[in-house]
Amino acid sequence: MLEIKDLRAGIEDREILKGINLDIKPGEVHAIMGPNGSGKSTLASVLAGKQDYEVTGGSVTFEGKDLLELAPEERAGEGIFLSFQYPVEIPGLSTTNFMKTAVNEIRKYRGQEELDAVSFLKKMKEKMALVEIDQSMLSRSLNEGFSGGEKKRNEIFQMAMLEPKLAILDETDSGLDIDAIRIVANGVNKLRTPENGILVITHYQRLLDYIIPDFVHVLYNGRIVKSGTKELAYELEERGYDFIKSELA
Ligand code: ADP
Ligand code: MG
Ligand code: MG
Repeated sequence: MLEIKDLRAGIEDREILKGINLDIKPGEVHAIMGPNGSGKSTLASVLAGKQDYEVTGGSVTFEGKDLLELAPEERAGEGIFLSFQYPVEIPGLSTTNFMKTAVNEIRKYRGQEELDAVSFLKKMKEKMALVEIDQSMLSRSLNEGFSGGEKKRNEIFQMAMLEPKLAILDETDSGLDIDAIRIVANGVNKLRTPENGILVITHYQRLLDYIIPDFVHVLYNGRIVKSGTKELAYELEERGYDFIKSELA
């Protein structure tokens, strides 16, 4: 589904990702962990197509297509969802209208007709129940004055509405409290099907108690230096990232 080969990327003259290799197959949940500054968010940004970063080598294919050639909206159209640590606030744009536009843009990209009002509302209700979102939140301006937990809920709601094939969640540094962890985990776990892939980026093992990954990778200094199963996350929690450093030395 997603194939990352020797991906190199950086900013200005600095290389941050120094040859990343990662394969995600349908149905798999992968977690990327690693100390601060190792390049986790850079990887998420490069996959999202953020302009700030320059890709200097390697390739990323999604279902056989060259992802790096696609604009961020096209990546969404192909079925990739990326969550970010600090969602944008858009005064004057309600969550409902934002969602309507987002859902229909993806449908248009896929050559599908716009959802009619009844089907759209039905979908909204179904997904709202899934993330236990309050109806009143939907008429408020997108993310404006939302608490951290509400933003998180809204983000997972967006993910549920867009029904991505591959969800990439960068939860690093976001200081998820226990409610936010539960929201993220519920949303992600409901997305788990034999067809979908999920990439969870996290600094802490705690989230992985709720989203049990099939594979755990350690990103350190721009490279994946160790891969394993969920046991690796426990080992990291217990021993800290220093043991990786000493193993590498
Ligand atoms: P992580 O998410 O693992 O904490 P990041 O991907 O945020 O790591 O950062 C990796 C390294 O790249 C850090 O040293 C960081 O300072 C640097 N970096 C990331 N983004 C930028 C940027 N926009 N400008 C300058 N340096 C950056
Ligand atoms: Mg960081
Ligand atoms: Mg980060």
